[in-house]
Amino acid sequence: MSPIFFILVTLLLTSIIWSVIFLMAWFTLGKKSYALFWGGAFVLSACQWGTILLRPYFDSDTLYWMTGVSFSMGSVILGTCGHAIRARCPINLKYLLALAVITLAAVYYYKAINVHVGLFMSLYIYYDILLLLVNAVIIIKHKAKSLPAEVGAAITYTLCGICLFIAATIALMQGSQVNQTYLDLYTLINFITVPTAHVGMAVFIIFIMASDLAQEMQKLAITDVLTKCINRRGFYDIGQQKLEAHLSCKQHVSLIYWDIDSFKNINDEFGHAAGDEVLVQATQRIKACLQKEDIFARLGGEEFVILIARETELKAQKFADTLRETLASKPIACKKQCIDVTASFGVISIKCVNTPIDKAIDLADKALYIAKHEGKNKVAYAMPLN
Ligand code: GH3
Ligand code: MG
Ligand code: MG
Repeated sequence: MSPIFFILVTLLLTSIIWSVIFLMAWFTLGKKSYALFWGGAFVLSACQWGTILLRPYFDSDTLYWMTGVSFSMGSVILGTCGHAIRARCPINLKYLLALAVITLAAVYYYKAINVHVGLFMSLYIYYDILLLLVNAVIIIKHKAKSLPAEVGAAITYTLCGICLFIAATIALMQGSQVNQTYLDLYTLINFITVPTAHVGMAVFIIFIMASDLAQEMQKLAITDVLTKCINRRGFYDIGQQKLEAHLSCKQHVSLIYWDIDSFKNINDEFGHAAGDEVLVQATQRIKACLQKEDIFARLGGEEFVILIARETELKAQKFADTLRETLASKPIACKKQCIDVTASFGVISIKCVNTPIDKAIDLADKALYIAKHEGKNKVAYAMPLN
């Protein structure tokens, strides 16, 4: 038996294993639909290798060729759909499918009607290459800062595209009739690169899924379950870096510590569930006033902290008053009841890059204490930290 037979069997078995792995990954890693698409891509890939192995059992050589080509193109289309869904990239599937149909028709024409070996062997590979490159772009472009797994996957897709381009072009160079020298060279390149690319792409896709999961876990670990604000841990993790980044950009930074007034009474009067709803709606109202770079954290209970940077000191200082007015402007509607909610605010201006964030929180908390003592629904200012 030829070495190619063993390579094909290996490709068939690894494709089946990857299909099962992606099905399991879909099941265990949050049922992400793109994992199913990638699993589907490997199922079609297995069908492609199976088709080649079963070649002697096909009555018609054209039927054999078109079946294999369809599986090959279907596999890259499903893989591309998976990447597009993951990246929320609005690719137009209609155009991809239209181009696939045109390519298939051309392959059929040059295989069965007006035989041209170079064209029927290469055209569908060029289509696959185009999609591999589209995949690389989708993977790398969808985020400002790519994960190492994404960079690796994009490089693997591009290298695979380049190798297939060389193979397809050698196949095309045969012209209308089989040229044994080119055919042997095509076979050699194809069967050296395809298994490597096959395994490389699958491993990188799994790596991407694992990296996505790790990122999601990191995000969950610093997110407050009820309000979806950053939690205390998250604020201490990123607050200091943000503070330093803002100050080095000559922005005016304020830290606002705020606490809902008489929240215990809200719980006592309307119930704990209503209290929770007040927390959710109050934080949504505050979030609507914030800018993209502001950090909003729930430190615990009904106590929150916001780190803002504004272009003038006055804007940075007065922002807390805007928040206070926004909160008090209208009652919060909760299960047919209207709950009046106010909060008190302690504000501190931070001017020095080396200011420890916990010291700023401590001083803003002391200012908040003064706001409470002055009758609540007030803003109090601490002495600026130089
Ligand atoms: P002050 O105006 O001085 O801030 O008074 P307060 O009643 O708001 O403050 P206090 O510290 O006396 O009470 C806070 C209450 O918040 C007590 C606690 O049961 C309640 N609380 C803390 N976390 C939650 C929560 O997640 N959900 C609800 N519903 N209540 C909470
Ligand atoms: Mg309170
Ligand atoms: Mg409190």
